[in-house]
Amino acid sequence: MIKQDEKITFTGQVKEALLSIKEKKCCKKARANAESFICDNALIERENFVCDECKNAFLRGVFLKCGSVNAPDKRGHLEMKVGSEMNADEMCIFLREMGLEAKVSKRREKYLVYFKDGDTIFALLSLMGAQKCAFDLVNTQIEKNIRNNVNRVNNCEMANMQKSANATVRQLEAIKELMKDERFENLPEKLLYTATLRRDNPDLSLTDLALIHEPPITKSCVNHRLEKLIKIAFGE
Ligand SMILES: [Zn+2]
Repeated sequence: MIKQDEKITFTGQVKEALLSIKEKKCCKKARANAESFICDNALIERENFVCDECKNAFLRGVFLKCGSVNAPDKRGHLEMKVGSEMNADEMCIFLREMGLEAKVSKRREKYLVYFKDGDTIFALLSLMGAQKCAFDLVNTQIEKNIRNNVNRVNNCEMANMQKSANATVRQLEAIKELMKDERFENLPEKLLYTATLRRDNPDLSLTDLALIHEPPITKSCVNHRLEKLIKIAFGE
């Protein structure tokens, strides 16, 4: 058994869960078949799969022998490293029979039968009997997605705030520029009114600035007037 305080990889957790499963005699045989399938290129003895659980036990045996899975906070990846192309092909056929589509790639002398899709990895872990690990994986993925979304929204809000802060700075600079000479006093009445309100309320958003006009005007009207001020001040 693994000690409580000892760090154990996610693969280790899965394998520990798989090893703790009580198996019927037929399932034990199926798992032994998996071992000789991986180690000695033996055939998959489907005729010996008698109960509903035998296929899962075979899968469990393969994973225990040569499987690994990424930790829940990492990119989705579950692989079984087999020794021959034939093994890899056989494994893919077997997995397809169980409704699982695997991919294969060659790495050095080994063949990797692997999955990237989160739903499939969840299904595989569940079928093998590592339900708790499967749920840990899904929960972590959901939390990660929520966190990413929150960050994205925050970044977007920050960008917007920065943008309007920059715009306000520009407006105040324009007003300051106009106030250097008589151009400010000589502004058309409405522009002068808006310019004065902006000067005296530098912290207000455009929406709020629009509302303190008497009578209130629209946000786009305020925006239009402020842009006009910038144009007059800097000739842009
Ligand atoms: Zn069985």
